[in-house]
Amino acid sequence: MTSQALTPFEQRRMVLPVLLGFLVLLGSDLMLYPVSINGIPLPEAVKIVIWLGSAGYVLLFYQTVLPTPRRFQRLKWVNTASAALGIVALQTIIPDAKGHLYGLYVLLAATLIAVLSGRLHAAVLLAVNFVFSAVLYLQSGSNKPQDWLSLSATTVAIFLLLETVLRLQDLSQARIQRLRIVNQFAQQCGASLSREHVLSTLKSTIEQTVQADTYFVGLLEGETLNLVLLFDQGEYFDATRVQVKGTLSGWVIRNNTPLFIPDLREEPPLEGIEIIRVGKEALNLCWLGVPMKTPEITGVLVLASYTPNAFNHNDIELAENLAQHTAQALGNTFQHEKVEQQSRLDSLTGVYNHGYLLQILQDEALQARRHNHPLSLVMIDIDYFKQYNDTYGHIIGDTVLVSLCDIIRRYIKKTDSVGRWGGEEFAIVLPNANGIQALHICRRIQEAMNKIDIYSAEKQTIPAPTISQGIALFPDEADNTETLIQLADRRLYIAKARGRNQIEPGEQHWQKIKRVASA
Ligand code: GH3
Ligand code: MG
Ligand code: MG
Repeated sequence: MTSQALTPFEQRRMVLPVLLGFLVLLGSDLMLYPVSINGIPLPEAVKIVIWLGSAGYVLLFYQTVLPTPRRFQRLKWVNTASAALGIVALQTIIPDAKGHLYGLYVLLAATLIAVLSGRLHAAVLLAVNFVFSAVLYLQSGSNKPQDWLSLSATTVAIFLLLETVLRLQDLSQARIQRLRIVNQFAQQCGASLSREHVLSTLKSTIEQTVQADTYFVGLLEGETLNLVLLFDQGEYFDATRVQVKGTLSGWVIRNNTPLFIPDLREEPPLEGIEIIRVGKEALNLCWLGVPMKTPEITGVLVLASYTPNAFNHNDIELAENLAQHTAQALGNTFQHEKVEQQSRLDSLTGVYNHGYLLQILQDEALQARRHNHPLSLVMIDIDYFKQYNDTYGHIIGDTVLVSLCDIIRRYIKKTDSVGRWGGEEFAIVLPNANGIQALHICRRIQEAMNKIDIYSAEKQTIPAPTISQGIALFPDEADNTETLIQLADRRLYIAKARGRNQIEPGEQHWQKIKRVASA
């Protein structure tokens, strides 16, 4: 991390005390020490000009150049060079100050440059100063070991001091950076309605902020923990389920409290807790789990490492932050999915509504064409339902609609779909089913419908109405969904015309059925 992570304002704030210190020191030196060039003493006016010149430079650079990062970037070396020139010049014009005060100038200048421009610039400044001082020593003929020791020791001491300052600066910037990343994460997942997006954003945020060998997000589903995101030793794993009872994650969820175990070898195991391994089955030594809880979800975020003591208190705070935002965002996505799901369903019967079933039919027709599979469409209509309603009432009529849907759902596969086409008319999409298979399903539904009883509010049994069904086959009989629907509808009315409580699969199928029966 470089000093550029600081804003210009922060940089100026950091170096302001150093600059003021430098100007005060320079002012008092110019006044108190005999200032000369080549042995010629400088008049007071020149001293004032030197001081004003330095103050002017400082003001100009730090008021106009520093707040414009791009310009500053270009002038960084110019600034470093002027600082180096400045201390070299001071060394020549205030020779008496050398020894005691000179080291201070180097320290101030190097601190300034280190904060503003970084390690390399400060090291160059120190090197320039070292070389120049060495040349002066050699020129003056003084070659005392103490002088060399003093020069080297001062340079090394300043360098070490700066290193400490820079490391502190790096640390605080790393924290600021972490905060920024977490903030960004919160914004991104707060705006997301997709679970995959939330989890992939979490994934990259964890990678940028913490060194974890293993991490996972587990969502509580009954007695199991569904690991919707699992990373271990450089590899992502597909969602898996693990037991929750008696595990560290289970403890975190049950107590709704973070749990940090710096070194699992030293920590006495919590009572009744068994350490389970996920991912690559190796045992993590440092374990950190934080709860995730919203009205919609309950779960845990775990960071773990194969190195003991890998995490500190900042990491706990980070994990808690991430868990909270993730829980909130996942809660939102669940809520959204629920609303979406509901908007696809018919509110009375719970089967798909007309619009969504039509969409399914179109998608399935595409798949059927792509994979060269058949697809059957069944249209169902309740017989004499108007009369039924008139006889038994609308509420009983509604019960019939619900019962019919329950029956249909019982006889179709998970991959089949049923929807309310309108009023008392339903449609079933049977992917990968030929006419004979569709006919079997229709018969089962018809028989079940003939057997059920409907109960009145007074618990009296009422006969259920019969149904008529029409079947059409894609792509053999109709090669687009529109004609497929029309054909199924037409056959439904043929079934009605044949006397109701009938199934009409089309002429071709009657032939086929006859052939099968006579064979
Ligand atoms: P058929 O289909 O055998 O020719 O006669 P039908 O009497 O069923 O035909 P029609 O389409 O004329 O009547 C449909 C009736 O379905 C009219 C309406 O009262 C009833 N219906 C439609 N939607 C609902 C509903 O949500 N609940 C109830 N109880 N009845 C409904
Ligand atoms: Mg009807
Ligand atoms: Mg009808």
